[in-house]
Amino acid sequence: MGNVPDAVKHCLSYEQVIRDYPWLTQWLQQGQSAAINTYPEFVKVVEVGPRDGLQNEKEIVPTGVKIQLIDMLSEAGLPVIEATSFVSSKWVPQMADSAEVLRGINRSPHVKYPVLTPNLRGLKAAVAAGAAEVAVFASASETFSRKNINCSIAESMQRFEELIHSAREAHIPVRGETLWKFRYVSCALGCPYEGHILPAKVTEVAKRLYGLGCHEISLGDTIGVGTPGSMAKLLESVLKEVPNHVLAVHCHDTYGQALANVLMALQMGISVVDSSVAGLGGCPYAKGASGNVATEDLLYMLHGLGIKTGVDLSKVMSAGDFICKALNRKTNSKVAQANCQP
Ligand SMILES: [Zn+2]
Repeated sequence: MGNVPDAVKHCLSYEQVIRDYPWLTQWLQQGQSAAINTYPEFVKVVEVGPRDGLQNEKEIVPTGVKIQLIDMLSEAGLPVIEATSFVSSKWVPQMADSAEVLRGINRSPHVKYPVLTPNLRGLKAAVAAGAAEVAVFASASETFSRKNINCSIAESMQRFEELIHSAREAHIPVRGETLWKFRYVSCALGCPYEGHILPAKVTEVAKRLYGLGCHEISLGDTIGVGTPGSMAKLLESVLKEVPNHVLAVHCHDTYGQALANVLMALQMGISVVDSSVAGLGGCPYAKGASGNVATEDLLYMLHGLGIKTGVDLSKVMSAGDFICKALNRKTNSKVAQANCQP
């Protein structure tokens, strides 16, 4: 890794690529054909790094580092930052300081800071710490549900009903996050399980969350094996029951498909995308699963498509540089890597 802070100053924005490589202009602009009209004008980027990313770290991340990361991301103009998770510290020791984190951050009036709450106890603790928006996590796979939230899908739905009801009574918006896990990785290559049963399961869960009053439902490929083909099938199914403006996608990059999957979702009318600074994250239950699509890479693609986000890519890169140094690891963002001069 080279001198990253220096590199960050020379952030490769889309505009700069055009300046540095004029021969690319014609080629890049060829891409802006009729199809581009099908993309949304604005995409809301939901930053999940501080929660989804840091909760999968092996080492305990100091509270001050978490707070500084969130503050840097706020300054970058991200409209939503999933800040932390009010889960039992017995299950997720990384999130034991959730109340301190939420109290410690500099809240920008333009940013929403939802927190993940698995149950009523978590919701109460989150509200007491000042959470103004919460998220619930529902699995569309039985095994994954049991491993991840320690109960069946039916049990989790019952729990959520109560939880979402209580949150709404307190005028706290609830975001629903669904996740699925392919039974076998080979499913990603097109087995019937993925093709037929899986979209129906996810649709069922998404529809239920929508019916319960979730204002947004994020569809998560948590182990990152989906392809644009499976994303299209999934969305085709879910969009029959839940309107596109309510949906978000959450793609992990294990098989290098995350950006392609996001692009497919954009073409199908989705305009909310979850991502994680420096591509932080993973899945403790899936061996080899890598992080979420990196916020830097997502922004680079969106801005390259002429889609507005309101987010400053170079500031996100600084935040990525900060957290990678704090965790002593390499960034998973290709855009950040491209800016590291050897
Ligand atoms: Zn994730």
